[in-house]
Amino acid sequence: MKTMIAARYMGPDRIEPAEVLLPEIGDEEALIEVEACGFCGSDINIVAGTHPRAKAPLTLGHELSGRVVQLKSSSAEMAIGDRVTIYPLISCQHCYACTHGNPHVCRDLRLFGFDMDGGMAQFVKLPVSALIKLPDGMSAQIGALIEPLAVAVHGVSRTSLQDVEIVVVLGAGPIGLLTALVARARGVPHVIISDILPARIELAKSFGLRALKAGNALWQMVMELSNQNGADLIFDCAGHPSSAKEMTSLARSRGVIVNLGVYKRPVEIDLQALNFREIEILGSRVYKREDFEAAITLALQLPLERIVTHAYSLRDVTTAFEQFRSGEVCKALILPLREKDGTVRLSW
Ligand SMILES: [Zn+2]
Ligand SMILES: [Zn+2]
Repeated sequence: MKTMIAARYMGPDRIEPAEVLLPEIGDEEALIEVEACGFCGSDINIVAGTHPRAKAPLTLGHELSGRVVQLKSSSAEMAIGDRVTIYPLISCQHCYACTHGNPHVCRDLRLFGFDMDGGMAQFVKLPVSALIKLPDGMSAQIGALIEPLAVAVHGVSRTSLQDVEIVVVLGAGPIGLLTALVARARGVPHVIISDILPARIELAKSFGLRALKAGNALWQMVMELSNQNGADLIFDCAGHPSSAKEMTSLARSRGVIVNLGVYKRPVEIDLQALNFREIEILGSRVYKREDFEAAITLALQLPLERIVTHAYSLRDVTTAFEQFRSGEVCKALILPLREKDGTVRLSW
């Protein structure tokens, strides 16, 4: 029996490199040799043991890139050697959302890396239908960013950018940074991003974004820039009670707030402000398949390299996760092919 190394969630607060059986593929499935796989904020909930569905033991990972090494498929669309990322959603295809063109908000939505083994491993077995080809020449690291970039593309697509001059992004983690970069690429003249962590503010500045600490200074900047009206559009990528409080105070009359950050519990929102200024709040969950196509196109134009601040080998997954959870790293990638090197240097 052949085995491989996988990053396994073994129970609350336990993520470890573990030896598991190499998956065997069936019809319409492919085996992917994983080149890069990112940690996501939701992985923190899984390892904390607070995710409602994820059960140990489980291989994490839904943000990945790799190469097809085995394939059993009746279609000629995919071939051995193709470089791919994955569309990790599994929808029921029967519920209201699924039958009305929105399978990404399926009432029984499941994902690879949450409900079944994901790709933070040397290899992952996936249905061919979940694979999305990457362009030639796209690095493995950028390939692993397509999924979070699709989250940002979807969030921005939730609202029209017509007449939008000022966008505020709350939270400068990977999703916040990517959302700000997408808004800027879509032509918004003023994109402001905030966080409470100085390192994240500095990182945002390195992309040429206007970045500052959340709170009073942010409010003042937005009001000055908008002639005391407030921002046209706000993306809540922090998902923190303080951002929920702050977001309505930043919005102009008839402004729009899009929530991307996942709240751990219900929070307080100023519905009086919502009423007085006819503010709209929209939810944004994951992505549609077309958001991946848009993300791949955008990834070729955006300076995404600096989003990945750290990379590790699979054997170092426990340390990698600790550092990611502490907030001191922005996007942390596992690079399984560099298995024996210890901590991995980024190639740029
Ligand atoms: Zn994710
Ligand atoms: Zn469904």
